[in-house]
Amino acid sequence: MKEILIVEDDKTISLGLEYYLTQEGFGVDVASTCRETLTRLQTQNYDILLLDCGLPDGSGFDLFQEIRKISTVPIIFLTAIDDEVSIVMGLDMGADDYITKPFKARELLSRIKNVLRRSNSKNASNVIHIKNLTIDTLQAKVLKNGVDVMLTALEYKILLILAFNPNRVFTREEILADIWDVNEEYVNDNTLTVYIKRLREKIEDDKDHPQIIQTVRGIGYKVVKE
Ligand code: CA
Repeated sequence: MKEILIVEDDKTISLGLEYYLTQEGFGVDVASTCRETLTRLQTQNYDILLLDCGLPDGSGFDLFQEIRKISTVPIIFLTAIDDEVSIVMGLDMGADDYITKPFKARELLSRIKNVLRRSNSKNASNVIHIKNLTIDTLQAKVLKNGVDVMLTALEYKILLILAFNPNRVFTREEILADIWDVNEEYVNDNTLTVYIKRLREKIEDDKDHPQIIQTVRGIGYKVVKE
């Protein structure tokens, strides 16, 4: 099921959209403030965001910039006036689309489907590049400066979790929950530290000053792409 986050403080609009999109087979969450949106994005993955331009605690444009620091989720702006359209277009913010209020739900749906189609074909690329590392997810191969790196299944899985969402911080609990199914072997908090250490020894230029997998103290890890 495709998951949509509606960011809209006008309850009439968000309730209507929530009902309509649920009927159309989407999983739908609603956030009504910038703060709520960022919190949700840190704990859940969405396939697409519908983003209102005027929110009670800030503008959708500022929120867009914040979101882009942590997520590449496709975004459709819901703009109220022509002014906002020109901002979306003029700033060339990298929004995937916009729709001007009032709009027909059916029109929005067709735009959502278009954006999802485009993002699917974008994700169809099976190669992830991070610094001097190349991950070929089709062949389950990792190359460092073009040379094969031999990873265990668990090390590979941990790298993938982080690399699929560069710059997003994953808590240790999230990573542990995700790798649970790779191996019968029980992975606890301490062994995760060991796996990360071994992974760094294999992929980092200097394991003591990691540039790819970075520790976010007290929380977890993230992969830094640039
Ligand atoms: Ca609004």
